Amino acid sequence: MIGSGRGSTTLRVSLGVASLTITLLLAAELIGLLPDQTEAKLDARQKVIELVAVQVASAAARNDIRMVGMILETVVERDENILSAALRRQSGTVAIAGPHEELWEQPEDGLSTPTHVQVPIMKGENQWGLVEIRFRPLQSFDSFAAWKDSPLAIYVFIGLVGFALYFLFLRRVLRELDPSSVVPEHVRSAFNALAEGVIIIDEDERIVLANQEFANMMERPADSFIGRKASELDWSTSQTHETSFQYPWQQAMREGKAHTGVSLRMKSSKDKTRIFVVNGAPILDAKGQTRGALATFDDVSEIEKKNEELEDAMTRLSQSREAIRRQNKELEFLATHDPLTGLLNRRALFEHFEKCFESATRDGSLLSGFMVDIDHFKSVNDRFGHGVGDQVIEFVAKKLMSVAKFGDLSARYGGEEFCLILPRSSLMAATAVAERLRVSVSEDFGKQFSLDIDLTISVGVASLQGAQDTMTDLLNRADKALYAAKANGRNRVVKWGDPELDAAHRLNDTRMVRASAAR
Ligand code: GH3
Ligand code: MG
Ligand code: MG
Repeated sequence: MIGSGRGSTTLRVSLGVASLTITLLLAAELIGLLPDQTEAKLDARQKVIELVAVQVASAAARNDIRMVGMILETVVERDENILSAALRRQSGTVAIAGPHEELWEQPEDGLSTPTHVQVPIMKGENQWGLVEIRFRPLQSFDSFAAWKDSPLAIYVFIGLVGFALYFLFLRRVLRELDPSSVVPEHVRSAFNALAEGVIIIDEDERIVLANQEFANMMERPADSFIGRKASELDWSTSQTHETSFQYPWQQAMREGKAHTGVSLRMKSSKDKTRIFVVNGAPILDAKGQTRGALATFDDVSEIEKKNEELEDAMTRLSQSREAIRRQNKELEFLATHDPLTGLLNRRALFEHFEKCFESATRDGSLLSGFMVDIDHFKSVNDRFGHGVGDQVIEFVAKKLMSVAKFGDLSARYGGEEFCLILPRSSLMAATAVAERLRVSVSEDFGKQFSLDIDLTISVGVASLQGAQDTMTDLLNRADKALYAAKANGRNRVVKWGDPELDAAHRLNDTRMVRASAAR
């Protein structure tokens, strides 16, 4: 049982020690080690009496009663132990100081007592008179000053003050010493053998046992924790500043059940943060009352560190995966697009075209396309150089993109030749687009280039015809139409089926079919 009745134990022990001290004092007095106050007081009284006797005798020699009266009054006034005094002669009292008549009682045998002192004053051979001095009793308690002079005062003082001091001292000392007596050595050894840090705390949350592993974790000797409040150690978790926060041992004591897996942080002496997983369990007495708690500490700093490193590595990995993905995308773009114009290259065109073609034949939907060739392009190169030639190719590519709609495939087919595939478009619709392109090229060229030439294009348009048709058939027809456009004076759009085609055939029937050659 931890901390039970510690207060009353301290009280009992303090009382015991105070009583022992008084006994010691009494014993010391009994064997005469303490100075005898009564004797000292009697001595002092003797001296006063002698002094008074000498002075009164000298006044008596002159028969000076008045002087005797003054001496007695002075003595009564000055010495607080003298209550009254008088000079008695045969005729009765002749000089009185203080309430002597009331206080004086003639000692029975005529001998002086410690309170009633008689001093005979001689004149020659004869007794001239008798000085009577009434002293205060040696032990009177009618004032604090008198009381404090009594031997009893020292016992009362030592008894009370000693008890209070012993109590305060013991309470403090027991706070540190009590736990070690409460926790037997073999229990302590058992706790020290544990791989986890363990502390046992009492009801006031003060640590009564800290095992060796806890001390190792905290980098401080185990004894230094005894008597300290567990929650006042240097925990550095931000949550501990929250008003609602409760340490697991506090919760365990409050709720009477175990609380596990609470993470606490502490700055270690080497300025590293240690992370603990802490469990708290209540310690109950036979009646089920909470008497304290046991808390275990698992240092997970290393695991946490490894976790953080792992997380870092994962982040880096996903970053590099993202970079690779981006690079792959770029590579894919480079592999499928023409670097000068950004249009699909010929290889990518055929890949995409194939899909469009398949879905068109499957759905029985329309599919058209056209081939474009810049007229007299050689002369552009020849007159203005390849650089300008490239800019002109880019210009036409942009015009092609501006007429293409979403889902169309626009490609650079060869040097200064382009191709546009228009899914779900009829021959007429595709021809209209081609015409729009032709017009915009010839109209906008002058706006962009200050060259003293006109730039025109020729376009050949074709469409998918029936279920037996192939991709190559369509491209061949478009190519033939293009040839017809060239043959018929350039700067024109010829669609498959136009009369210009027959004329073109008649003119030259030997032109290579580039689409089939490309395949
Ligand atoms: P036509 O009206 O009959 O088409 O006459 P043309 O001069 O345009 O003849 P053709 O179409 O046969 O000319 C193709 C020329 O285009 C040949 C080549 O010098 C030039 N060319 C091909 N690719 C490029 C290129 O990437 N950049 C430049 N500047 N010129 C190219
Ligand atoms: Mg050409
Ligand atoms: Mg050309």
